[in-house]
Amino acid sequence: MPELEAVIGLEVHAELLTRSKMFCGCSTKFGEPPNTQTCPICLGMPGVLPVINRRAVECAIKTALALHCSVARRSIFARKNYYYPDLPKAYQISQYELPLSERGFIAFMLDGTEKRVGIHRIHLEEDAGKLVHAGTLEESESSLVDYNRCGLPLMEIVSEPDIRSPEEAAEYLRQLRAILVFLGVCDGNMEEGSFRCDANVSVRPVGEQKLGVKAEVKNMNSFKNVQKALEYEIRRQIKAVKEGEDLIQETRLWNADQEITLSMRSKEFAHDYRYFPDPDLLPLVVEQTWVDEIRRSLPELPEAKRARFVREYEIPEYDAGVLTASQELAAYYEACVRAHRDPKVVSNWVMVELLGRLNKDGKEIAQSPISPERLGAMLDLVAKGAISGKMAKEFFDTMYASGADPAEILKKSGGQITDTAQVEGIIAEIVAAHPGPLAEYRGGKESAFNFFVGQVMKATKGKANPKLVTEILKKILQGG
Ligand code: ADP
Ligand code: MG
Ligand code: ZN
Repeated sequence: MPELEAVIGLEVHAELLTRSKMFCGCSTKFGEPPNTQTCPICLGMPGVLPVINRRAVECAIKTALALHCSVARRSIFARKNYYYPDLPKAYQISQYELPLSERGFIAFMLDGTEKRVGIHRIHLEEDAGKLVHAGTLEESESSLVDYNRCGLPLMEIVSEPDIRSPEEAAEYLRQLRAILVFLGVCDGNMEEGSFRCDANVSVRPVGEQKLGVKAEVKNMNSFKNVQKALEYEIRRQIKAVKEGEDLIQETRLWNADQEITLSMRSKEFAHDYRYFPDPDLLPLVVEQTWVDEIRRSLPELPEAKRARFVREYEIPEYDAGVLTASQELAAYYEACVRAHRDPKVVSNWVMVELLGRLNKDGKEIAQSPISPERLGAMLDLVAKGAISGKMAKEFFDTMYASGADPAEILKKSGGQITDTAQVEGIIAEIVAAHPGPLAEYRGGKESAFNFFVGQVMKATKGKANPKLVTEILKKILQGG
């Protein structure tokens, strides 16, 4: 029996951060009382007409450009027909034959190598409502419908079947999520369902080009669950193939409690939906000038930022990957490097000490009690030798607890004066002010040396580093 490999393609649904719904003016606010954000359009009353939300189109174009996809000058909204109580019109407005965007990719680093996953298409559609049960569907005597979600703008991003392992799938999702959040088009919240993923998976003999029969796995609400569900599903399919079973194309549900996938239904096919162009909507025509304008407004994306960090700061790929995971973290790092020009030292402190501590406390970088400027100032003190590496850890603790300025902590703690130039300045002044003892010392009176040491200690309230004082004093007294 030849070795089998997994083939995975992901379909992501992202709720777009618009103020109003996809085809009507209802609010998109999350968590409002049921059915308070509806109107005749999103409730599918007869005779109403949908109007395309310009901002939703802009979000999708931004995403298309960031994922290196084409933007169609002309695309078509279609009706996808099916009946379910959360879909009052009995069709979903989506895009089918001519989507807004096609053919791009996401590139990311995994285990030290670059992985590229093709993007098959990006299209716009509307979300359905939500069924609410008392307890589970099976226990519940009745189901209630909340139409607040009905008609929310959704962007579907379909990957090519280029993913080969559950780890790659999870990393693809992390990258995609980071990009959407960077762009400000989606809040990326998987638990609240604004970033959802269906995973298509099949297995085939290594070296085979033809795709195997796939299962579509649904109902995973975290990256970890996607990974676990895929691990389970791949094991299940490999076992079935090895036992000579025929796999069928089907939709399966991930059960997070039992950590298994269960068959929900045999897969529906596109012709079951009887797609046709929506006669209520004109073709969506996108002017090139608008696309150009959006392209110019794009922020620097994680992928480009990661490459720039490696180039500009000469830090390892690994560090760059961690530090560009979010825009806030990347901005923190860059501010810290501006305050202390040793990028690798800053990277170590941010990744190990700061992120370690924040993680432990369940905090985000935006909630860091230590500002990047102050962390940089503290690292400056270390570099100057004003504080030791050991003291730096103590300073860090104090700063983390109180947000204090490291210079203040140094003053209060009465840290040693170890700055050569500073000590030299003090000594030069003292020597100039005492020509008598200087002459005595130069005339051979050794004990005059101690007189000067005493003067320096008096002037610095005992804080000058004694070894440094002896060294410099000798040099100056001997006329150096
Ligand atoms: P469907 O019509 O069932 O939705 P699509 O062809 O639109 O199927 O593909 C949906 C997703 O499934 C895409 O991400 C695609 O890459 C992936 N996919 C398609 N065929 C396979 C397969 N045999 N194995 C794994 N993934 C697949
Ligand atoms: Mg599909
Ligand atoms: Zn509405």
